[in-house]
Amino acid sequence: MPWMQGFLTVPQTARGYDAQVVMNEAVEEAINRQIHAELASAHLYLAMSASFAAEGLPGCSHWMRVQAREEVEHAMRFIDHLADRGGRVTLAALDQPPSEFGSARSAFEQVLEHEREVTRSIHTLYELSLEQRDHASQPLLLSFISEQIEEEKSAAEIVDQLRMVGDSKGSLLFIDRHLGKR
Ligand code: MG
Repeated sequence: MPWMQGFLTVPQTARGYDAQVVMNEAVEEAINRQIHAELASAHLYLAMSASFAAEGLPGCSHWMRVQAREEVEHAMRFIDHLADRGGRVTLAALDQPPSEFGSARSAFEQVLEHEREVTRSIHTLYELSLEQRDHASQPLLLSFISEQIEEEKSAAEIVDQLRMVGDSKGSLLFIDRHLGKR
């Protein structure tokens, strides 16, 4: 039937997928940048974890290791999202993180600053997805917007506590023990 001809044609895309509709390229590129940011966070937190272990703060070290694992999970959620939508994942090289972070307080201040940066990047990604009318990425991005509220809150709480105790080694060990229970 002639009227069905166009209808039944399998769309051919630039990437050679079959029936898969290729996702918005600008959003795909921004999600790839976000994957990189999440993996860079994991890299940074693993470096912090190793540094805390060397300084005799096993609780802080444990907290950072759990955090690093969460960041890898975040990256994988974005990777799965691209895979589910026929997008292409492009991983980039990670910069070498520092190996010294100063005091525990300074390290957690760096975590807080880093998470604020990640929040800004997710908000930018969300704005882009709205502009591009990429509706399918909305649930995932909204879940990350909520996730970042938690990330900033938990880092800020630890920074506040470390600022409160000042130079007291006893209090630092108490906080370390608490963070080890995460
Ligand atoms: Mg993250």
